[in-house]
Amino acid sequence: MSKWNLTNLKRNGDNLRIFIVEFTFLLIVVYIIIPDFVLRCIGIGSWKKQNTLGVAITFDDGPHPDYTPKVLDILERYKVPATFFVVGENAAAYPELIKEIQGQGHRLGIHCQQHICSWFLNPWETWSKWDEGVATLESLTGQKVELIRPPWGVFNMALWLWLRHRKMKVVLWNVEGFDWLTQRSPEQITKRVLRKTTAGSIVLLHDAGGQPGAPKNTICALESICRKIAVEKKLPFVSLDLTKNGLEASPACRWSWRTCRFVQTFCRSKYTSPITRRL
Ligand SMILES: [Zn+2]
Repeated sequence: MSKWNLTNLKRNGDNLRIFIVEFTFLLIVVYIIIPDFVLRCIGIGSWKKQNTLGVAITFDDGPHPDYTPKVLDILERYKVPATFFVVGENAAAYPELIKEIQGQGHRLGIHCQQHICSWFLNPWETWSKWDEGVATLESLTGQKVELIRPPWGVFNMALWLWLRHRKMKVVLWNVEGFDWLTQRSPEQITKRVLRKTTAGSIVLLHDAGGQPGAPKNTICALESICRKIAVEKKLPFVSLDLTKNGLEASPACRWSWRTCRFVQTFCRSKYTSPITRRL
């Protein structure tokens, strides 16, 4: 082979490598970074906070036969309504716990069929796993699923399209106790949740999952969280009900609370929820 041909072959090889790198980068930007930035970081198309003075408490990753009943006991004692974002396969394994959650008047949302990060799912897997999760929960509750929360709160483009197509509401959070870490003591979880909680907060805790044994700390912390938010912060617990939410009712904007904060200012008297008016 002549020297000219060899140089040409090398140049073509370099060009192909550059093309592959650029294409992969573009794919990551379009498939992961843009949807994740819009939905998670900015909060457009998702709910990170409610437009009410009440605090909504949410639990992810359950149900779990050891931990979920204990969480339910505490919530019942303190009359705190909560929302459970359950993993489809856990719900299928413990249908009686789903009935118990439902029976106590808590809300249920889906946290995907399996606890998998959306970044590592291709579009077909994304649609099928979310459809499967929704079908599992609907078959157990007999009610339509409206609320979703993706594992780790992360998105890909296929999930964004799926939730728009299926008309799902994405609920994220603005307060988390990092209770999925075993080394977080109940005192640390309580302190962090109290420090961050304000009117309208959505608090993320876990009744399963995380590092081994981590929900034990959540259960220890939950009682003081329920008590202190009511007594020290003087904030009521409310069910995560986005249909009564001022912003959602507002025809002006269906974006997130944070993005459309100005709407809250102008529409407060017309759209504030009953709990806000009571306060
Ligand atoms: Zn999770």
